[in-house]
Amino acid sequence: MSYKLFIPGPVAVSEKTLRAMAQPMIGHRSSDFVALYQSLQPDLQALFYTKDPVYLSTTSAWGMMEAAVRNVVKKKVLNCMNGAFADKWNDVANRCGKPAGALKFDWGQPVDPEAVRRELATGQYDAVTVIHNETSCGCMTDIAAVMAVVRQFPEVISVVDTVSSFSALPIRKDELGIDVMITGTQKALALPPGLSLCSVSKRALERAATVTERGYYLDLLEFQANHEKGMTPSTPSIPHIYGLKSKLEDIKAEGVEPRYARHARLNQSVRTWAFAKGFKLFPKAGYGSVTLNCFANTLNLDLPALLKVLKSKHGFVIDGGYGKLKGKTFRISNMGDETDDTIAILLKALDSALAETPKLPAA
Ligand SMILES: *Cc1c(COP(=O)(O)O)cnc(C)c1O
Repeated sequence: MSYKLFIPGPVAVSEKTLRAMAQPMIGHRSSDFVALYQSLQPDLQALFYTKDPVYLSTTSAWGMMEAAVRNVVKKKVLNCMNGAFADKWNDVANRCGKPAGALKFDWGQPVDPEAVRRELATGQYDAVTVIHNETSCGCMTDIAAVMAVVRQFPEVISVVDTVSSFSALPIRKDELGIDVMITGTQKALALPPGLSLCSVSKRALERAATVTERGYYLDLLEFQANHEKGMTPSTPSIPHIYGLKSKLEDIKAEGVEPRYARHARLNQSVRTWAFAKGFKLFPKAGYGSVTLNCFANTLNLDLPALLKVLKSKHGFVIDGGYGKLKGKTFRISNMGDETDDTIAILLKALDSALAETPKLPAA
């Protein structure tokens, strides 16, 4: 049975993108590849709001998230932790043998800039990781406010995960002073999973040059050296790069401002629908994500039953809660290529599925 994903990644991939990915292979050291790679850079730099290069890594986003920690941390990294992905970054830093400080917030709370300031002021840290849009609980941190604090500590290299927000709203890398900005392809860009994009400042590369044991596959200096030749360090997923080229054309055709407006509008439609049913947003008020909504199961519904009906009768898949939030929340994505029409069809199906969903016995 085929069905359509409205989970917060991977999301549905268009026929156009899939066709673009099915083009014949070219050699990754050929002039055709160099032309392809270089043709992407101006459009990618525009979306990252940066003058720095944008590397293409044949890994999912975690590849470059691990790369960032391995390349820029010498002393100690401060991990801002407010959800599953943010928490895991602390675990990854530990596994890479990097001294790491855990700055913990409750899931659903944004990263508090003043708490970041207090920690960085101890002088122990030379890097910080922040998740812009914590997908696990649909919480979007005010990255401009956090970066304004981070930039007061010149020694600290900033690493920001924009995996589920990139291209859905402007994130002005250079203006905010983000050193390493990372995204994946399977979220708002609506490509299949398997490629990540990462833009790195000169400062961060200078730090990396002083760090030993960067390894090979995730070495930012290898990415930079190859970037200068219009290439990637090793054979990349060329189909993904064809797909990315096609997607960048789509984004240009739509226009970035209309694209941002579309995501905001669809996100609001889903909220309006859910509030009318009596659901509430899980994240702190004012910090809800614009690419997905994470709703608290305030109606005490049998969420697995709802998801089952929605999938089997209507062919749509939403998410029943991440990790410790399973059963307590549900998430609906409005990333990628969704339109007013496709969201309206989903909400209609949800109406129908809700009507057959039992409530759980009161605890
Ligand atoms: C999906 C996601 C990731 C993980 O990406 P992978 O592509 O699975 O490695 C990391 N951070 C955030 C915020 C995400 O939404």
